Amino acid sequence: MPAVKPSPKPRPRKRIQKRGRARLSAPEIIRLLGSSYGPFQHASRLDPAEEVVLTILSQHTSDYNSERAFHSLMREFGSLDAVADGDIPRIERAIQTGGLARVKAPRIRQILNLIKEKRGNLDLTFLKDLPLPEAKAWLRSLPGIGPKSAAVILCFSLGMPAMAVDTHVHRVSKRLGLIGPKVSADDAHDILEAMVEPDDVYPFHVALITHGRKVCHAQRPRCAACVLAPGCPSAGIAMKKPPKKKLTNAKRSGVGQGVTSFR
Ligand code: SF4
Repeated sequence: MPAVKPSPKPRPRKRIQKRGRARLSAPEIIRLLGSSYGPFQHASRLDPAEEVVLTILSQHTSDYNSERAFHSLMREFGSLDAVADGDIPRIERAIQTGGLARVKAPRIRQILNLIKEKRGNLDLTFLKDLPLPEAKAWLRSLPGIGPKSAAVILCFSLGMPAMAVDTHVHRVSKRLGLIGPKVSADDAHDILEAMVEPDDVYPFHVALITHGRKVCHAQRPRCAACVLAPGCPSAGIAMKKPPKKKLTNAKRSGVGQGVTSFR
């Protein structure tokens, strides 16, 4: 009888610390940042289907470029229904300023047609009547729409309390200890969203993103000028880390650097 191999022991799963060691609460952060950048008033930007298209256009490019591409697309076609029926090379030409047009043009057309298939038209205002997790899940079933895009569409277009976590919000939240150091941006959405009242989700998002852009930069955060510094567990720490310099082979070996010995 062949020997039965013992089944391998299950590896212990690493526990990710979801919450960090924050000294300031989310409402305190909104209040303090509100004194610098507020008031944070919600202004609806676009119709939700238009916001879907703008969100696709904004992937891997700046707000400026994506907005230019969006306006160019609408000028060219006049309506999203016309984009849904449009031919891909024409869409591609219209959105060229937004970058990655060859990827984004077929995706935009595909998404618009999928929405029409599912709903019969491009009206997405029904999402506002769904519970937030269902509205998120509906949008995330569309290709190219992840947690951040779904939150942007629901929050900016429909005023729903969905927290969008981009690179700035993610970095600042980690530095403030609101989330643990290993929490991914995707996982941070629900964690940060649960820290504030629904009415404060939008101000929380705008406060953190503005702070990340103006003060808490990825490289060289301006901790000395930061209103949150007295309560920030990373104050000064991030400042002390010098940016990593790439060493050339010559520098590594000391060639041409006057390095003649290892003393
Ligand atoms: S103190 Fe420094 S690390 Fe902390 S939030 Fe302010 S700028 Fe960012």
